[in-house]
Amino acid sequence: MKIKKGDTVKVLSGNDKGKTGEVIEVIPKTEKVIVKGVNLRKKHVKPRKQGEEGGILSVECSLHSCKVNVVCPKCNKATRIAVKKEGKEKVRLCKKCGATIK
Ligand SMILES: [Zn+2]
Repeated sequence: MKIKKGDTVKVLSGNDKGKTGEVIEVIPKTEKVIVKGVNLRKKHVKPRKQGEEGGILSVECSLHSCKVNVVCPKCNKATRIAVKKEGKEKVRLCKKCGATIK
């Protein structure tokens, strides 16, 4: 996975195309990500305890990581990420400006 928790990403397709948000969760197993404020689904909640109110909550659903591009913090553009090995460490680079993305 080239996308990490905390990255700012831009949505490339779907209902939320063009939106940007912070990655709040990464699911490497399915290569999916959950982005704050993106792919919201309404969830009906029933009151479980007495006195608790039911209602409709908006919950972020995961989307496939291929549908988002990381926004480079340096050039501020949605970009593909290149991964380069530097010694033992892998470094992520912006394909547009070449900046290192931590
Ligand atoms: Zn860049």
